[in-house]
Amino acid sequence: MKYLYRYWSAFSAIIISSIIAAPSQAESLPEANIDAIKAHLTFLSHDELRGRETGTPGHEIASLYIASQFQQYGLKPKGENGTYFQRVNFRHALIDQDSPALTLTVNGKAQALDYPKQYITSANQNHPEVALSGDIVFVGYGIVAPELKHDDYAGLDVKGKIVAMLSGKPKFFPSEEGAHFASGRQKTKYAVERGAKGIITVSTPVAEKIRPYKRYLTNLHAPSLRWLKADGTPASTHPELLGGAYFSQEAAKVLFEKASTSLEDIYAMLEEDKVPKGFPLNASMELSSKSAYTTISSPNVVGLLEGSDPELKHEYVVFTAHSDHTGIAKSVKKDRINNGAMDNASGTAVLLETARVFSQMPAPKRSILFVAVTAEEKGLLGSDYFAQNPTVPVTSMVANINLDMPILLWDFVDVIAFGANHSDLSKTVSNAAQRLGLKLSPDPWPEQAIFTRSDHYSFVKQGVPSVFLAPGLATAESPDAGAKIFAEFFATRYHMPADEFHDDFNNNAIKKFADVNVMIGDEVANQERKPAWNQGDFFGDTFKQPVK
Ligand SMILES: [Zn+2]
Repeated sequence: MKYLYRYWSAFSAIIISSIIAAPSQAESLPEANIDAIKAHLTFLSHDELRGRETGTPGHEIASLYIASQFQQYGLKPKGENGTYFQRVNFRHALIDQDSPALTLTVNGKAQALDYPKQYITSANQNHPEVALSGDIVFVGYGIVAPELKHDDYAGLDVKGKIVAMLSGKPKFFPSEEGAHFASGRQKTKYAVERGAKGIITVSTPVAEKIRPYKRYLTNLHAPSLRWLKADGTPASTHPELLGGAYFSQEAAKVLFEKASTSLEDIYAMLEEDKVPKGFPLNASMELSSKSAYTTISSPNVVGLLEGSDPELKHEYVVFTAHSDHTGIAKSVKKDRINNGAMDNASGTAVLLETARVFSQMPAPKRSILFVAVTAEEKGLLGSDYFAQNPTVPVTSMVANINLDMPILLWDFVDVIAFGANHSDLSKTVSNAAQRLGLKLSPDPWPEQAIFTRSDHYSFVKQGVPSVFLAPGLATAESPDAGAKIFAEFFATRYHMPADEFHDDFNNNAIKKFADVNVMIGDEVANQERKPAWNQGDFFGDTFKQPVK
């Protein structure tokens, strides 16, 4: 007997009376099955699925497999048209690598920049032929955050101009809120709202340390994907924006050659975490490029376990795990398949086993939705589509519990729930973990703002309290044994063909992680009050659901 507290309380009379007659009764209760999870992992990370890239046959087969499992467990189809599938159409945009041309005119002197050595420009989702030209205004970080009393656009007129902004955000910004304000999506919004028609993002020495310019070059050939709205236009894009480019420090030097504040002075200010003020640069840019469009489709897979309470069954606990991965590697010679065993066959396998275990238990009060989402690797797109086009009312979703890349390599004794500190889900997760003898540990990497970086964030943006569950770093022997293994995974396997299913997966970790996931679902689905954002929480307030 490990976690079926509720089962016990509901059926204790039956069980207690039968224990005497049949002591094996307790063992027959449903628990996560290690072999079942390993079987899912073996299938989903198999070479035959070719890295499960969004829109490919490999990912379609993975989705079919997930739907078939849902059916076996007796989950109801909750996709579209009575099926488990919710088809998402995407615009797949590829830039013609020979097409980009960029000329900077600084103080009357024109100079062509080298693509991709000095700058990068990606496929444009709205303009297959980019023809952008205009004067350039420097706008600091390009962030507008009234909550933090910060406005990089104060006193600047950027209407009809191209804005040049520094990559990243001030270090003194709180990490998770900062990640929201400094996201590409928000920065683009601030620029567009002020009438800018193009964006230059400038790399800095600080940005180089976090993500070197060279690293961007490895993604040069990656397509840009956006889900298509019913009217056929790409979501989360701004047609008013005619084009953009990412500048290396070398290109930035050219841009700031005659600037009233020198680039050296700006970098020095960043060093001291001061925010450089914006100003018009005595410069203009001409940029052209060509992109080719195709439409591809890829499914989210949705299964429903109906709740037992006549009222509460209309509320939904939503479990998510992304089923897609990055497909075939472009640069590695021998084995080129990015199998994505840990990322995220493991999360998907645990999601499936969670669904199976629930199907073996008396139904909880609230309903549970199991959603395998597509296109996470393309920018959290499948979850964003589902959260904006849900097959149950978004206001009836009480919580999202997301599984992404659980590293199941060490026998952990604690769990991390990224984002739990923003709502009373922290209490729920902590209770659930306790029932298994596990501890809830705080986020070990607050500076990375992981809360904003996986599929649960798509639900946060629709006002749904969410957590991203991960194994903790502690083992019985050491408080941070997992940290080293985690770092090694990142360095040698993450998004590489080496992320394969190996014998080094830890059985205890597999079982515990699935059990604690079930336990959390059990708590949320049965607790009296639905989860709530903390009073005054930034994310709760920013993305509040409209009152029903
Ligand atoms: Zn990934």
